[in-house]
Amino acid sequence: MCDSILEDIFIKRSQQRRKTSPLNYKERWFILTWDKLCYYDYDADKGKRKGLRGSVDLEKIKCVETVQTEANCPRERIYAFQVIYDEGPLYIFAKTEEVRAQWIKKLKELVQTNKDLMQKYHPCFWIDGTWLCCQQEVKQAMGCKVLNKQNGFAYGRGSYKPLPPTPSEEKSSPWSPPQVPESDKHPSGMKVIAQYNHPAMMSQDLELQKDEEYTVLDTSNPNWWKARDKYGNEGYIPSNYVVTVGNGLDRHDWYCKNTNRSQAEKLLKTENKDGGFMVRDSSKPGKYTVSLFTKGGGDSGGSCKHYNICTTPNGMFYLAEKHNFNTIPELINYHQHNSAGMFSRLKYIVSNRARPPSTAGLGYDMWEIDPSCLTFIRVLGTGQFGVVQHGKWNGQHDVAIKMIKPGAMSEDDFIEEAKVMMMLHHENLVQLYGVCTKTSSIYIVTEFLSNGCLLTYLREGLRQHPTSVQLLEMCKDVSEGMAYLESKQYIHRDLAARNCCVDGNGTVKVTDFGLSRYVLDDEYTSSAGSKFPVRWSPPEVLLYCRFSSKSDIWAYGVLMWEVYTLGKLPYEQLNNNDIVSQVSRGLRLYRPQMACEKVHGIMASCWLDKADERPTFQELAFSVQDLLYELQ
Ligand code: ADP
Ligand code: MG
Repeated sequence: MCDSILEDIFIKRSQQRRKTSPLNYKERWFILTWDKLCYYDYDADKGKRKGLRGSVDLEKIKCVETVQTEANCPRERIYAFQVIYDEGPLYIFAKTEEVRAQWIKKLKELVQTNKDLMQKYHPCFWIDGTWLCCQQEVKQAMGCKVLNKQNGFAYGRGSYKPLPPTPSEEKSSPWSPPQVPESDKHPSGMKVIAQYNHPAMMSQDLELQKDEEYTVLDTSNPNWWKARDKYGNEGYIPSNYVVTVGNGLDRHDWYCKNTNRSQAEKLLKTENKDGGFMVRDSSKPGKYTVSLFTKGGGDSGGSCKHYNICTTPNGMFYLAEKHNFNTIPELINYHQHNSAGMFSRLKYIVSNRARPPSTAGLGYDMWEIDPSCLTFIRVLGTGQFGVVQHGKWNGQHDVAIKMIKPGAMSEDDFIEEAKVMMMLHHENLVQLYGVCTKTSSIYIVTEFLSNGCLLTYLREGLRQHPTSVQLLEMCKDVSEGMAYLESKQYIHRDLAARNCCVDGNGTVKVTDFGLSRYVLDDEYTSSAGSKFPVRWSPPEVLLYCRFSSKSDIWAYGVLMWEVYTLGKLPYEQLNNNDIVSQVSRGLRLYRPQMACEKVHGIMASCWLDKADERPTFQELAFSVQDLLYELQ
């Protein structure tokens, strides 16, 4: 048993799957650990804990809140709270208000850096196929109440500090990320394991060794945590290089987090080994899939098979019927030796961990980069600000270097902003590493993505004709990066396929966010200018320069259209003047051939005339995810 943080006996409402099955309420022994909320059978007569009945991975939790009870509810079920995760709500009833508050507080503390925290929730129960608060009849329906700002949640990994709104930006977001008091942040004392090596670059850094354990001491900077190694050395580490101890899958090389079906197939085919495999998150939230490459499937080049890891009603895992296991690692271990119903046994681990992820900047509190640490490899292209080069930092880290030509940017303002931008960190955003300000013209140093610009990739880079699912996965990447920016009230202002990049795995990341504010070129900044992104702008921007997250949403719809036309120019036949007048009068882009009605429906929702009727990025990310699940 891993360290328990809280334990108590609560009533739990059964999570009935069918509308017709009666609800029941049972006493369960709940144990909260660093990574799980588990509940066990409880023998009230003997006061003993019995078998495990179920558990929720803390990293899957999206919301912890109280639930409003009905006026006539029994006394023992007054202090209700809900833990929302992939499988829906888990309803728990505490004995007193104090105990409920204590558990909610602790749970919130532990999940506050989770990726998919909800911005809205349902304050009342889901009963008999209806949400009592809003009468919606779909369990997955978006919450009807905006979460209280003071609730201690922040959306997105490490999203503690909302950024100050940028000048002249319209504040249209109904929700702003809350300030979390310093003391309430990630619990210090937490044990983590390094998933990658990371050298100590500066004296204040602590070197990470893959698979070694560290104790976290300070998490006030969400991206660089202070930690201690087993020898007592202390220093800063990139928080995205470690996982909580006890997290079942993360420590296994075969587990490829954040890898979708197309990416898995690409990795497996590149490796080209019969029996090559990985375990990845299924498109169905909370489930896992084994992807296997086999040369025995009839297809001469080999083919990929995908097997969902199923669960039995009592929480056992299996791939092939009759071979049940308590844990996924046990199941994988078994199938590494026995094919048991699959095309082949799992012979070779194919991992996406070969390359460590980007860190938020190159070190703790380090935004000024010494230009003598940079070497230039080749010119990647030329953009609005000048030449962009591929280079290395310290001879080992790939970076892209934007060399700003003199007079192209209001540099001092940008440098101030860069310190804020450094704090933005998401796997679907191109990471800003820092700036060289002492060079004759400034350099902007970012993460390097080997497949370059998304627009060129769509037009030329896709080797085979892409499937609708592949294209939707690209859109999903962008929607998640943008949902993070939205949660920070950060407006991109120039979202388009040309401002996204593609990494070696095919993951799309958004770049150049907020940069347009520092461009010194009237042709680009004035909506009447020839370089203004008219084709990506909604009527309120074209007419009144009203930028908001909702104008980014419009641009996202156009970006989806670019993806589904493989990089066509929007409104190809029209010039900028025509676009302004016709789009304001209701003209919209047509449905691309490759986009089904539902995909087109998502695009069209981004182009609603009234900005506040357009969805949020978080809602879009959910819709795209749902559709992906449907299409696969
Ligand atoms: P700007 O935003 O200054 O107008 P771009 O972002 O268009 O410049 O960059 C010019 C070219 O450089 C792009 O078309 C792309 O091919 C390449 N590029 C830019 N950033 C990166 C990056 N982070 N990784 C790889 N290639 C990049
Ligand atoms: Mg650009």
